[in-house]
Amino acid sequence: MAQSTHIQDFYDRVLTLTGKSHGLRTTCEQICRNLLLSFAVENATLVVAYKSHWKTLLNVGDKGIEYLFPPVEYQENETFPFYQITKAIRLKKTTLTDLEGVRRLSLPLERRSQIIGCLIADFPKTDLTEQLDAKDFSYLGALLASELNASMIDAIIQDEHSGRRIAERELQIRQHEQHSLQKQLQALHDISFKLWRAHSIDNMLFIAVDEAKKQLNIDRMAIFLFKPGNRMQGTYGTDIHGNTVSEHYFESEIPDLWFASHFLQQKGEYLAIEENTALYHNLKVVGFGWSVYISLWDEDTPIGWIACDNLLSGMPLPAHLHQLLKQFGFIISQHLVRRQAEEKLIQLNTELEQRVAERTQALQQAKDKLEKVSLEDPLTQVANRRLFDERFSDEWRRAERHSLPLSLLIIDVDHFKKYNDSFGHIAGDDCLKTIATTLAPIERRAGALFARYGGEEFVLLLPGQDHNAAQYAAERSLEAIRALAIPSAADSEGQSNIVTISIGGCTITPSTNSSADTFFKLADTALYEAKSSGRNQLFLISDAG
Ligand code: GH3
Ligand code: MG
Ligand code: MG
Repeated sequence: MAQSTHIQDFYDRVLTLTGKSHGLRTTCEQICRNLLLSFAVENATLVVAYKSHWKTLLNVGDKGIEYLFPPVEYQENETFPFYQITKAIRLKKTTLTDLEGVRRLSLPLERRSQIIGCLIADFPKTDLTEQLDAKDFSYLGALLASELNASMIDAIIQDEHSGRRIAERELQIRQHEQHSLQKQLQALHDISFKLWRAHSIDNMLFIAVDEAKKQLNIDRMAIFLFKPGNRMQGTYGTDIHGNTVSEHYFESEIPDLWFASHFLQQKGEYLAIEENTALYHNLKVVGFGWSVYISLWDEDTPIGWIACDNLLSGMPLPAHLHQLLKQFGFIISQHLVRRQAEEKLIQLNTELEQRVAERTQALQQAKDKLEKVSLEDPLTQVANRRLFDERFSDEWRRAERHSLPLSLLIIDVDHFKKYNDSFGHIAGDDCLKTIATTLAPIERRAGALFARYGGEEFVLLLPGQDHNAAQYAAERSLEAIRALAIPSAADSEGQSNIVTISIGGCTITPSTNSSADTFFKLADTALYEAKSSGRNQLFLISDAG
């Protein structure tokens, strides 16, 4: 029979070839190639039990023969739906089913009454294939099953071995990374602590760059802060030799580079990484390598960025650095925002303090002025009656307490009414001013007070001064006014033709049976005496004499 010869030929070829073959792959591929050659099989799939799952080991289809090791997850497809495969497995029986245009071989692969795989193949309907019988393939099933059994165990073991080696290596790498990540997280913590202790924003930015390079093993780092008007300013950076340097001189428009748009257009992006890219210094390309840009944010507003690269060492970018740099960016953003708020507050406080100080000073000046004005006679600018009254009672009490002499002179301009009447009130005022300025400096001893008492009357209080001292002061006063020789309005005999003064005075050492009032009255009485004795003279009363 033509058909049995054909099957025979198929087995002959398969056995010759598989006998020489070493390994599952060649066996499987040879079987499929011969299924193709002998029966023009178009579609086939070999499913195996691999690590407790049904997986695809081989496919025959549009792409030719496709061997997959380690076997892959079964991919659902139109030709062989998975339920048909599981059905064949459950059935545990080789079947040849007639479908439209094809005869489907379903060949479960059994080993020690356990199904370890299943071959499904579609044979196009031809005269030859119409005559095929399921039994024709039981030998193929046994062959495949034994080959699978031996090879799969071997392959699985090998796979597991190399898998373990890979896994161990992976584990080592992971452990190493984990370790250095841990170390660097600790470093981040240290950096953050140092940033807390920085004494200014500027100092903080320096520490950030310098410490990050040292502790996070970064070749170069620079921090840029944004300014209004789409501009940015350098702070601290790294020169091309790796030194931390001030880059405050650097100011530019925010450059239109890839990372800038990356940040500014996608809010919430923190990291922009580019490998094999141009590396810049002062916007000039200085080399190639990886560069990472970390954006700095104040809530939703970008406030700057940190740039790092591997210009100096060319070291590859460690996987864990992503997370670390992102974290670093958060820390810097936080510190910056906090510091800026603090510095603004300090500045506000200083301004406020300065304003308060200015106000206080202005207020003090106003107060001083007011005090002065309230104690000064506005016309003559010597002390006024108010100040005299205060000082008079103070000095009285002091003299009483210490049993010290106290002298008082009352000075009155002679015939001043007439002066006013003749020369006018303004001339009278001028005359009073001249007299006051002349008499005020006569007595300069501590505590002495010259004041305008009222009208054309002045007083000179002389604490601690006795009769003689009072007399001397009075004499000098009389003489000083005479020396001015201000023409008077004399119109009668015996009246001086220059302006003169009369002085009445009293010296007393206060005691319990005397009072300030009586003391003043005594001086006034003395003045009356001087006036009635012809004016332009002094009259002194003393308790001593
Ligand atoms: P006596 O020698 O007895 O003191 O005569 P007298 O004219 O000076 O005394 P009297 O008390 O009669 O007059 C004082 C005058 O002093 C009256 C007033 O016009 C004048 N007088 C008082 N205060 C001022 C002032 O502030 N400016 C001017 N220009 N004159 C004043
Ligand atoms: Mg008078
Ligand atoms: Mg007078």
